[in-house]
Amino acid sequence: MDVKIARTAGFCWGVRRTVDKVMEVAAAAGHGVVTLGPVIHNPQAVERMREKGVGTVSAIAEVAGGTTVVVRTHGAVKAEFDAASARGLEVVDGTCPYVKYPQVVAQRLSRAGYHVVIVGDEKHAEVKGVVSYVEGPYTVARPGGPIPAIPDRKVAVIAQTTCIGAEFERVVGALALRHKEVRAVNTICSDTDERQDDARQLASQVDAVVVVGGKNSANTRHLAEICRGIQPRTWHVETEEELQPEWFRGCRVVGVSAGASTPDWVIEGVAGRLRSLT
Ligand code: SF4
Repeated sequence: MDVKIARTAGFCWGVRRTVDKVMEVAAAAGHGVVTLGPVIHNPQAVERMREKGVGTVSAIAEVAGGTTVVVRTHGAVKAEFDAASARGLEVVDGTCPYVKYPQVVAQRLSRAGYHVVIVGDEKHAEVKGVVSYVEGPYTVARPGGPIPAIPDRKVAVIAQTTCIGAEFERVVGALALRHKEVRAVNTICSDTDERQDDARQLASQVDAVVVVGGKNSANTRHLAEICRGIQPRTWHVETEEELQPEWFRGCRVVGVSAGASTPDWVIEGVAGRLRSLT
């Protein structure tokens, strides 16, 4: 069976930058290093870091004195930065600059009197971070969910970096018809767009698709949704162990796409196992 790997599969620029930063800090520090939340949404990569002595905490309150804290790719809520600074902890900010951008935009637009609408998942760490910088009314609009009813006249719409473009467009378009003033700032990461385009193309060229990445990774789940819409034989797996030979019965070519937080060695493991299936 032939295996075709998407050109953009694997770590994006932002994830690679944060992972490298964590490794640098861990190698240089003569004391404990922890990440605030899992550094990226990939359990296998987080486990590898744990083996190198990098722990994970869910809040600054759990950090022992003298420990260096690395903020993960998805960022953190403002209150956690404030808490770390109040305790005098060393903080290395690994937030991806493309994740920082919606935080800055949300703060600026809320100060300018806009009701801020974020198209994204309110439970996602990135969205929680953005919300923490809003200084006025805001609404999180779930992709695929209802268009929110907003009482304010001035509305500004931004998106989670991994939002599907069509969903951002749907919310902006609907609100533009209801409000006098709507500002849209496209905060979708260009890596996400490129990766999604690549996945679409791949799904249209193969007999089945395997999307590799954490089940808790929003961008990986979106890739799987996109591929499934084109190629119903699409499977989302975290590792090669989950692959079932019967999924690929009759397939000649299988495509492999992967989320932005999926390490190369996990993708290679899946591709290798697929190649061994006949
Ligand atoms: S997908 Fe984009 S926003 Fe997310 S970590 Fe990668 S570069 Fe940053």
